[in-house]
Amino acid sequence: MKHPNEKIMLELIKYTRIRTKNKIRVGAFIIKGNKIVAKAISTVFISEDPTAHGEINVIKKLAKKNKSRNLKGHWIYTTMIPCPMCTSAIAWSELDGIVYGLDGRHLLQQLDLHPKEILKTSKKEIKLIGPFLDDECLTINTYKKKNK
Ligand SMILES: [Zn+2]
Repeated sequence: MKHPNEKIMLELIKYTRIRTKNKIRVGAFIIKGNKIVAKAISTVFISEDPTAHGEINVIKKLAKKNKSRNLKGHWIYTTMIPCPMCTSAIAWSELDGIVYGLDGRHLLQQLDLHPKEILKTSKKEIKLIGPFLDDECLTINTYKKKNK
């Protein structure tokens, strides 16, 4: 599959939108070939786990399923730009690339470090594409556009 893929991102936005009420939640899919092989959403406020971001949850889910910590050959799609923790987890799992929707760093108001800064220190070259379909991401009710 050629990345970024519009159909996958639109499906991810829909998946995230119907699971989001009043807290910011990030959805993430992992893709292999042209198939979605894992889906997850952040569960920070449900599990009271500060590390339970969507990207972390989906990586853990697939690594467990594959019985492998190495996810090369896969891409991750997220509704929002990955934070430094998640970008690091993506590097540790050696995913091939990232497609993110909204650059939502203004919503988090801390740890404002662009993923490219982390990825340039990664051993493996991981592609980074985004913002992609960010206007559609704004249909997720807790996401807001940056005031300019
Ligand atoms: Zn994160």
